[in-house]
Amino acid sequence: MGLNKKVQDIDFSSMMNKKALSLLSGGLDSVIAAKLILDQGIEVVGLHFVSSFCDSKRKERDNVVVRSASELGIRVLIRDKGPGYVQVLTKPKHGYGKNMNPCIDCRIYMLQEARRVMEAEGASFLVTGEVVGQRPMSQMRDTIRLIERESGLTGLIVRPLSAKLLAPSEAESQGIVDRSQLLDIAGRSRKAQYELVERYGLKEFSKPAGGCLLTDPIYARKLRELLRVEPEYTMTDIDLLKYGRHFRFCGVKLVVGRDKDENEALYKLWSPPYLFARSADFKGPSAVLKGPVDDNTIAIAGNIISFFAKNEVFPFSLECFDGRTTYRSIPRIPVDPDKFKVKGSL
Ligand code: SF4
Repeated sequence: MGLNKKVQDIDFSSMMNKKALSLLSGGLDSVIAAKLILDQGIEVVGLHFVSSFCDSKRKERDNVVVRSASELGIRVLIRDKGPGYVQVLTKPKHGYGKNMNPCIDCRIYMLQEARRVMEAEGASFLVTGEVVGQRPMSQMRDTIRLIERESGLTGLIVRPLSAKLLAPSEAESQGIVDRSQLLDIAGRSRKAQYELVERYGLKEFSKPAGGCLLTDPIYARKLRELLRVEPEYTMTDIDLLKYGRHFRFCGVKLVVGRDKDENEALYKLWSPPYLFARSADFKGPSAVLKGPVDDNTIAIAGNIISFFAKNEVFPFSLECFDGRTTYRSIPRIPVDPDKFKVKGSL
């Protein structure tokens, strides 16, 4: 078996044991995969990845993962992909999918992280819910092999849903996992998976749908703009891309909340060098801004904020929180918010 350099020194036959690490996304494929291995009397620990690029339903999905782990009777570890993941995004070796989704590099990154957890946990193989042919970019046979090789996990991944369509893993070859109990599902239909969750009485899983903002064309445009204009971006800059209307003018980045939830999200997210701002004189959107703050930029920011308010008045006071509280009198000036809108911002 052609093991790559990263793992060639490891003696798999002596380290193979009945403990597996199973990637849990919250979706039904990963839940069934873990169940199929558990039912063979193998100890399974779940691993769930989160990142700043998960959509607003992330919390919901994380809760589903915790509940599905509890239904399966296993422990689950939750790991943030962290800032290192953003590096993968900026220069993916294997390119992007339709938008900013570097699915192949993303899978390699996650599997490398999983490999570290696997070693720390004393697990000898990894389980994934991958299904051959389900995703065009990362789940075709050749790509599956490439991802496995580049993540340093050649021979160490069991894919219970499609195992019979793939070469046996070490765990299968050595009889740790009974290959005859594994499946031969391929393609995009989830019919077989729904029959299985029904048969196993599993209830805790999320519907197979999106979740990754990198596949969203609107989000992708905002992200591209940020990486181009601010190569020294921070994770706060990235997190802010999920909320509000985005503007740039005179070196300032302004994000204006679109509703109460977004105003609250902006309040939670802001920290210096951003400024949190809202009108003291009328009900309207909150905003965060970063960049050179002077009478001119504050006046433009204030006018954009007031443009999206229902009952604006001029002049008005803008409350700005930047470690201290300041009030400035904002005059009406001719500002066309569309002119400063970041491409892709709604
Ligand atoms: S859809 Fe997003 S999370 Fe999934 S593999 Fe692609 S880039 Fe990664």
